[in-house]
Amino acid sequence: MPNDRVRCVDCREPIPSDARVCPHCETVQPSPLVDVAVVVVGVFAFAFGLLLATQTIGTSRLLGFLLLVVGFGLAVGGYTRHVDRQAGRRAR
Ligand SMILES: [Zn+2]
Repeated sequence: MPNDRVRCVDCREPIPSDARVCPHCETVQPSPLVDVAVVVVGVFAFAFGLLLATQTIGTSRLLGFLLLVVGFGLAVGGYTRHVDRQAGRRAR
């Protein structure tokens, strides 16, 4: 059962893969679902921001540009975090 247990992100002790909190050091474990949610929110914010920035003028246009930047950051950041964790898991 290689996928049954994962290692704690902090103390590296093996813990159940569905554990939200490490039983050894009580560190909250990051969830892949959170990464997916962050990326989805980021992409939506980016798309909405693009719409606002290109289709509107004035304050809402500024808001659109802000959403573009924030959405892009969220999407790239969430994806990078996910890739980093995969790489870290493989390395250890
Ligand atoms: Zn731990």
